[in-house]
Amino acid sequence: MMLNAFLPTSRIRYVFVGSAIGAAMPLLIFSAMALIDGPSAAIDLFRISPGHIATVALAAVLGMGFGHHQDRLRQRIQDLERDEQRLLYEARHDRLTGLPNRMALEQELQRFLEARDRRSATAVLLLDLDRFKSVNDTMGHDAGDELLIALSRRLAALLGETGQLFRLGGDEFVAVGGNVVDRADIVTLCQRIETDAGAPFDLLRGRVVSGVSIGVTFVEAADCGMSQILKRADLALYKAKEAFGSTHFFYSVEMATEALLDIETERDLARALQDNELFLEYQPIIGVESGAVRSLEALLRWQHPQRGVIAPGVFIPLAEKTGMILAIGRWVVKNACLEAAGWPSPTGVGVNVSGDQFKDRGFVAYVRDCLEEAGLAPGRLTIEVTESVFSVDMQVVCESLTALRAMGVRIALDDFGTGFSSINNLKMFPLDQLKIDRSFAKEMLESQRDAHLVDLMQKLSTTFQIHTTIEGIETEQQMAFVRTLGISEAQGFLISKPVPAAMVGSLLLAHPQPAALVG
Ligand code: C2E
Ligand code: MG
Ligand code: MG
Repeated sequence: MMLNAFLPTSRIRYVFVGSAIGAAMPLLIFSAMALIDGPSAAIDLFRISPGHIATVALAAVLGMGFGHHQDRLRQRIQDLERDEQRLLYEARHDRLTGLPNRMALEQELQRFLEARDRRSATAVLLLDLDRFKSVNDTMGHDAGDELLIALSRRLAALLGETGQLFRLGGDEFVAVGGNVVDRADIVTLCQRIETDAGAPFDLLRGRVVSGVSIGVTFVEAADCGMSQILKRADLALYKAKEAFGSTHFFYSVEMATEALLDIETERDLARALQDNELFLEYQPIIGVESGAVRSLEALLRWQHPQRGVIAPGVFIPLAEKTGMILAIGRWVVKNACLEAAGWPSPTGVGVNVSGDQFKDRGFVAYVRDCLEEAGLAPGRLTIEVTESVFSVDMQVVCESLTALRAMGVRIALDDFGTGFSSINNLKMFPLDQLKIDRSFAKEMLESQRDAHLVDLMQKLSTTFQIHTTIEGIETEQQMAFVRTLGISEAQGFLISKPVPAAMVGSLLLAHPQPAALVG
């Protein structure tokens, strides 16, 4: 029989006193209630956890006499109550910062969900510290802990009465604010958090400048739990991180659609290689003066069975994220070499290589094998890397590029002008070719600034004795301007869009052939 039958409803679960007591059970319950002060204490007495209260009570009832044991029993119950309060507190709070934790957040959100008021909303802000890992790595975990404590104090003070702060773990915090009537208030709140978190922290080991990224969502009528709410805030936070942090994003339905599409794309990509759905197109790079095709850049495409042809900009980042880029990248090198070997010499081929591919320590040897297998002279292959490659591991990248170059392979720096520390890279890495990003070609006739930049990049590469290619030439006017600057090579839709491998032969026939590759 459940004790609920005897006792008033409460948030506490009651113990089921089993058949061992049998018919004495009602007596036990009533006696126990009489023993303590009123029904609420009796409820505690019979709580399942910690459990032994029922035994103590039972001993008292079964023959030892009430009066004798009453004080001891009362004391025992108080101790258990205190222990339980402490355990309950510890279960709901984070040890480091003393803030309420994930479990407390869950209960709080549940409360919001139950007491939903349609005139106002509850905002959930998921906060993630920027550069926390580097503080931990460079200054040690004590400094990391100190930073978390200092940040939590700042944020709690800022929120004051308007919201509550929780720590989920690591460098993730959640701020919950109820009764939001105007979204603009949350924007203001986010900006204040960003400013406060962005101000320097003076730690024992020195000064640290960090910052937070914020993903915001509102508790909605259809929400059924914390994980759903946090998932939305997390998608918004991801966008904030993508935008280089120290900013905030509000969740939108498009973010969920995008994430769903990413998951599907990732799944489909895993079998695209086996199912021969990937293929290469080639876009010519011509000598500006001669008009001859010097080389063709291999550009990857994916023939998706349902979605049609997908551009690399969509799936390469996913391949990089999942590590599939290693297998896909090898496939590209192999096929580009095999196809280029069929073109008239010395026409070259350019292959784009992601930074992550240099983590594959066998990559350089693999390139050598591909060249040998295809019978392609190394000088006809250009490996195109973007400046992001240098954020991988400078030493590994430098070693690989040097080894490739020693084999005779050419190295090009792609999308030049869009990355970081460009000039330094020119100095430090073995390069043969600079490809000026097409964003400059697009603006150079309208914008003086872009025209100057293109001119500057051309002069810079001449200084470093590197060939210059300009990407994205779409009009005769742009081509004429490029000619006046003395840029040696051009690529773009004006010359040709990327074409399937089968059309390269006719494309080459339509253009004069180069006498020899320069460089
Ligand atoms: P990228 O290496 O800078 O390639 C040039 C991109 O510019 C190509 O886009 C090309 O179609 C486009 N393009 C060329 N001329 C013009 C023009 O005149 N106007 C305009 N608007 N666009 C032009 P695509 O094929 O979509 O490739 C995008 C990027 O994807 C490439 O940029 C490259 O970074 C990456 N990618 C392509 N294939 C591979 C690959 O096999 N491996 C890796 N890791 N990345 C690849
Ligand atoms: Mg490229
Ligand atoms: Mg490019």
